[in-house]
Amino acid sequence: MIFETRAVPPFMKNGFVLGCEFTREGVVIDPGDDVELLLETVEKHALKPVAIVLTHAHLDHVTGVARAKQALGVPVWLHKDDNFLYEAVVQQGQMFGFEVDPQPAVDHFYEPDQELRFGEYEIAVRHTPGHCPGGVCLAVNGDPRTQGPTERRILIVGDTLFAGSIGRTDLPGGDLETLLRSIRDVLFSFPDGTPVYSGHGEPTTIGQERRSNPFLR
Ligand SMILES: [Zn+2]
Ligand SMILES: [Zn+2]
Repeated sequence: MIFETRAVPPFMKNGFVLGCEFTREGVVIDPGDDVELLLETVEKHALKPVAIVLTHAHLDHVTGVARAKQALGVPVWLHKDDNFLYEAVVQQGQMFGFEVDPQPAVDHFYEPDQELRFGEYEIAVRHTPGHCPGGVCLAVNGDPRTQGPTERRILIVGDTLFAGSIGRTDLPGGDLETLLRSIRDVLFSFPDGTPVYSGHGEPTTIGQERRSNPFLR
């Protein structure tokens, strides 16, 4: 799998480009202020993205959606429970003292047990509320030609879980008990070796967080 991540100040939010090396189809995940860098990686790998996929709708994860959609002409996916945040992205900016443009309407809301495909790869979308009401985790299957279709998944978890920390729950719609339940019931159902890519900071693994995350003792 082609896997690229970029982050820029001030939020240092991780945006992702995933691509299928066999078909060149791909997805752009959480385009924010890093959108031009993400689009460069799309060019570099000659990818044909099929979707803009959002883990949640906090402003740092969505400010590049308009630019990405304009460049790629592909649909935007979000969980419906975060649409109120998405539609209020201008006000979110005001809260943090940033001028933010409105973003184009979401094209598709995830269904329960939604699966999205790019080339030979599959993304299982799982609802993980708590950091915000419509947060999701994206479980992407590994290279089916070398690892088998179901064995090796990577998780892109948005701001639900971080290396050694958890998502904040003091923003509108956040709830700590719900967040902990999402981590324990959804994320910790994956094997210890599963790589975890968070919305900010360095990658970790499920096992590392299960063993040592101080918020999950
Ligand atoms: Zn967030
Ligand atoms: Zn974030």
